[in-house]
Amino acid sequence: MNRETKYTYGPVPSRRLGFSLGVDIIPFKTCTFDCIYCQLGKTTNKTARRAEYTPAQDIVDEIRRVLTKHKHIDYLTFSGSGEPTLHSRLGYIISSIKKFSDIPVAVLTNGSLLTMADVREDLSHADVVAPTLCGTASDIVQRINQPVSRITSDTILQGLMDFRNGYTGDIWLEVMLIQDLNDTDEHIKRLAARIKKISPEKIHLNTVVRPPSDKNIRAVPLEKLRVIQNLLGERCEIIAGFDKKMSPTDLKNRRDDIMNVIKRRPVTLDDIVRVTGVHIQEAQKILDSLISNNMIRFSEHNGHRYYEAMNRHATPG
Ligand code: SF4
Repeated sequence: MNRETKYTYGPVPSRRLGFSLGVDIIPFKTCTFDCIYCQLGKTTNKTARRAEYTPAQDIVDEIRRVLTKHKHIDYLTFSGSGEPTLHSRLGYIISSIKKFSDIPVAVLTNGSLLTMADVREDLSHADVVAPTLCGTASDIVQRINQPVSRITSDTILQGLMDFRNGYTGDIWLEVMLIQDLNDTDEHIKRLAARIKKISPEKIHLNTVVRPPSDKNIRAVPLEKLRVIQNLLGERCEIIAGFDKKMSPTDLKNRRDDIMNVIKRRPVTLDDIVRVTGVHIQEAQKILDSLISNNMIRFSEHNGHRYYEAMNRHATPG
């Protein structure tokens, strides 16, 4: 596996952000929250202290270097294994990148620090900010997000509105729903009223379809998400990937995601799973079908099986 890179990963094909280069600037599970749906497990460093957790200049230098190797990247996306706005030099990093790259920058954040003027200033350099919202009441936020003590449902909502008032880029609000916790009709109505005030350019409905930190929580069924989507209006789309009920379009998207990776360089099954996020069994099935259709082939090298495209210069599907 390639570890020449310390702060970047991918590019990762993603339905929301196209072909996105991930930028991870916070140590593993350093976060203001300890969400019960977190796929990374329990938060080990729960904090609201901003600091230069990783050297800002090293991150900028690495991104500059990595960008010379990839011709097609749709977004540089700050996300990863902790809350990116905890990095005290996030603004410097984004504005430095802007000096040598015109690729749009997106920041995926839990939105908990948006009451802080310096965080809002840092994020003002990004083209897209995608905060997550789970609850409009203290008990729901406490149960789902388990934030550091000074963060409450009120401060989160206030921060989102303060940010909206000063930010000229796009806000893509992710709404994360969990069955029987924040999907009641009454709570959805309250959420809808708050979202109206935040006025995001897009609303992305999500639920817990991957293994969460708390194994007892359940996904909101797709049928119910559709009802909520209608209620939230035309800017709302469902981004949750329901593995067992994949539509022909979902299947085509995943096939395309995998093909996009393979067309760049020979990769192992593990690489494909890591980069695309497709489940290993599903990825294997898609690879088998691509082989039968003569679109890819494989070879063994040092005990590993590498998949490569029959025509690596073809236009990505
Ligand atoms: S905010 Fe994100 S990284 Fe932090 S605990 Fe929640 S899901 Fe995990």
